Amino acid sequence: MPSNAFPTLRELENADEFIARHIGIEPADEARMLPVIGSATREELIDGIVPQAIRRTRPMQLPAPVSEADALAELKAMAAKNKVARNFIGQGYYGTHTPGVILRNVLENPAWYTAYTPYQAEISQGRMEALVNFQTMVCDLTGMAIANASMLDEATAAAEAMTLAKRSVKSKSNVFLVAGDCHPQTIEVLRTRAAPLGIEIKVSTASETLPHLMTTGDFFGVLAQYPGTTGQVHDLRPLAGHAHACDAALCVAADLLALTLLAPPGEWDADIVCGTTQRFGMPMCNGGPHAAYLACRDEFKRSLPGRLVGVSVDVHGAPAYRLALQTREQHIRREKATSNICTAQVLPAVVASMYAVYHGPAGLTRIAQRVAALTGILAAGLEQMGRELVNTTAFDSLTVKSGDDTAAILERAKAASVNLRHRLQQHLGISLDETTTRADIETLWALFVPAGTPMPRFDALADKAPVRIPDDLRRTSAFMTHPVFNTHKSETAMLRYIRSLSDKDLALDRSMIPLGSCTMKLNATSEMIPITWPEFANIHPFAPAEQLQGYAELDQQLRDWLCEATGYAGISLQPNAGSQGEYAGLLAIKAFHVSKGEGQRNICLIPSSAHGTNPASAQMAGMQVVVTACDTQGNVDLDDLKRACEKHSENLAAVMITYPSTHGVFETRVKELCELVHAHGGRVYVDGANMNALVGVAAPGEFGGDVSHLNLHKTFCIPHGGGGPGVGPVCVVEDLVPFLPGHATAGVGGHDVGAVSAAPLGNAAVLPISWMYCRMMGAAGLQAATETAILSANYISARLKDHYPTLYASPNGHVAHECILDLRPIKDRCGITAEDVAKRLIDYGFHAPTLSFPVPGTLMVEPTESEPLAELDRFIDAMIAIRGEIRRVEEGVWPQDDNPLKHAPHTAASLMTTEWTHPYARELGAYPLAALRQAKYWSPIGRVDNVYGDRNLFCSCLPTEAYATT
Ligand SMILES: *Cc1c(COP(=O)(O)O)cnc(C)c1O
Repeated sequence: MPSNAFPTLRELENADEFIARHIGIEPADEARMLPVIGSATREELIDGIVPQAIRRTRPMQLPAPVSEADALAELKAMAAKNKVARNFIGQGYYGTHTPGVILRNVLENPAWYTAYTPYQAEISQGRMEALVNFQTMVCDLTGMAIANASMLDEATAAAEAMTLAKRSVKSKSNVFLVAGDCHPQTIEVLRTRAAPLGIEIKVSTASETLPHLMTTGDFFGVLAQYPGTTGQVHDLRPLAGHAHACDAALCVAADLLALTLLAPPGEWDADIVCGTTQRFGMPMCNGGPHAAYLACRDEFKRSLPGRLVGVSVDVHGAPAYRLALQTREQHIRREKATSNICTAQVLPAVVASMYAVYHGPAGLTRIAQRVAALTGILAAGLEQMGRELVNTTAFDSLTVKSGDDTAAILERAKAASVNLRHRLQQHLGISLDETTTRADIETLWALFVPAGTPMPRFDALADKAPVRIPDDLRRTSAFMTHPVFNTHKSETAMLRYIRSLSDKDLALDRSMIPLGSCTMKLNATSEMIPITWPEFANIHPFAPAEQLQGYAELDQQLRDWLCEATGYAGISLQPNAGSQGEYAGLLAIKAFHVSKGEGQRNICLIPSSAHGTNPASAQMAGMQVVVTACDTQGNVDLDDLKRACEKHSENLAAVMITYPSTHGVFETRVKELCELVHAHGGRVYVDGANMNALVGVAAPGEFGGDVSHLNLHKTFCIPHGGGGPGVGPVCVVEDLVPFLPGHATAGVGGHDVGAVSAAPLGNAAVLPISWMYCRMMGAAGLQAATETAILSANYISARLKDHYPTLYASPNGHVAHECILDLRPIKDRCGITAEDVAKRLIDYGFHAPTLSFPVPGTLMVEPTESEPLAELDRFIDAMIAIRGEIRRVEEGVWPQDDNPLKHAPHTAASLMTTEWTHPYARELGAYPLAALRQAKYWSPIGRVDNVYGDRNLFCSCLPTEAYATT
């Protein structure tokens, strides 16, 4: 028997639980919080909030949680089942060296990866500068006028290019022509996206070439790859004139590294250019995350999907970055939206932009020249040994006629741990990249050399093998001439540049980010560590299945656990954002109806409170959106929904609801709603972005949902990355499982619904984050997280109720995991707006809550379970202090247009003026609470002028002189 003073081994081990690291609220805190809310226990609180009818009947079946060290060890063993081979597959994914200074200080740095989407411009200047660098880099390399701040992957970027063309040109045709020499996954995703929109995809073949197809004149756009997927550097210049003569657009999928050497599409009049920036420093990651790009001519800029960072000015006239044209974004356009992209790939875009800053134009050119030179040498050697090449021109890729030798060559390749591109029938593909060495070239020759033929000698060929880029397609124009790409050469300078940008921003590493609907919870370091392990990072998505065993296991386990959490029967992790999960889910519903001979079902009912991506996704899935009402309590108006179901009964495809609602309330009649929809033959889509209020307490698959998407970048701890990457798994009930997305390019065929992402596992490399979270939390830990998130939201709502009333609550006054603070009466009384409060919070060191969504003039607060009580109280105290300031405006002590709220955020410079004419003290501007004297975040700019920026749209790096005047 152990002595009574000494704990048992089990007790000691349990004390090391991760759960207590993830959940910021301790039992003693709970005891302080519950009386404020008026509940005796957490159990009682939850029982009073989550409707009994939907409570889980059994706990989740998850493995018992393990410690951080044990989870890492278990995952390491799984990772070891992935085999890292030398990859020459290409097809859109290439080896790259992530510069160490970028790996550690951007990709692995919470100052970058825990940041939120830059809606609050003043606290996001650093990441927006990095994104403007990204946009400038893309514009310069492609030769286009304007580029956005990232797309999800090359294939979906091509699909967005297609629809951008459709709405921008005069041609009324429904045909989109695609060069057969595009990457197969791009063509597959184009087909998925085109079908519901009634667009016909025609792919050119050897007999029906692209120019031949174009002679009909019946097309609105054409897509070609530059260089082609076979490696051929096509002369696409004549296509632009042909396309324009037919009132159609020329889209080009172009390789950015190749564009350092090739005449850019913008110089030969292409209309839209898209592609990936993967090889600019982001590992292959089994397919993602990587930043894709989309650039277009100036005339199309107001139709460009995705987020665009623009330059404006602040109130002091200084240059300031902010998201441009925000009001025309999909959130506002809703059912008129043309794209559903919301979360994009900001973190990978920052990595790519920093790679460009690090190497500069000269460095990028050198890398490209080396790749082209090695390709020339490889080609010369292959020809010397009698191998026939399909492509007569090349940048980095060769397609070799291997005929009857194919199997033998592949056998040798396997033995040498070399991956070639092989799904080409009698041909093999080889792509080189930044990481290719001389030894690699010799290894490749050895695979292809016929018996009895001498091996080529590298040194003999090195000086005489010609580069295979056609002379007349060589680039002559300069690019990336801006100082930012030509200054930070030394690592010291680079390190400080990266640091100077992240210092301007507020991310989770500094303060809570209380964003309703966005769940900014802890992204634990142990969850993040595995994503850059080579066994996860250096995997090609089209490598042979036997090399991907670790990923297969990860996929299987994570899907099993998420099925447990949601109550669904099947899940696909392919969608790489919430919006993509919605889209895949709606395609499943559509395909189901078609399979039952009810293809006429195309009406999608969506309550007015829905997130903007819901109607946008329905639109893209070819459904007709009908908006239904909410009642005065913020709930779905069941009577209105009933009328709509009856009216559209014959054609009802789906109803999309968010649960708990975007108003932060558990609606008690959700089961009834599901039954109603089912009675009319429709399916229920439950937007699972608010799953942080449900995990372990209720499961949408059990209370009547047919399909949900999850946002792993909200509920399951993948960091927001400043606006991506995300993962949006689509989860379905049993009879919809056959309609989950397939991926024929990767050999996952036979599905009714094709690929929705370029890679079969979407943003595969960030999946370890969610795996680690579940593995370390276990069923009870996840449930405790949910309950604590609800507890914290109710604590904030209760403590603020006399200062800012919560707009919607259940009849007993409780909210779910977030609360909407109503500031509209304040504005009516004294002109102080929710935005003024949001900006004043910056002076107090906080990121603002969600502003004016889902209700204009309100702030939506979601604290999450991860925030300690001290931080909740600090936030509440700041809000109460701000309420005191508002009162002084209400009482006329301060004029409505001259007070600390209207002038927020205060920059140091704006306070340190010789004269001070405002009716409040400078000290109050800077240090409204005494604690701020110890730790102060200074906004780098004053409030941004959005209108100026939209009128003077400018989305590239500013000339240096622009800073000189301020
Ligand atoms: C975040 C969110 C989405 C969209 O997710 P993305 O990953 O940004 O595409 C959809 N619905 C709701 C309710 C959300 O909060």
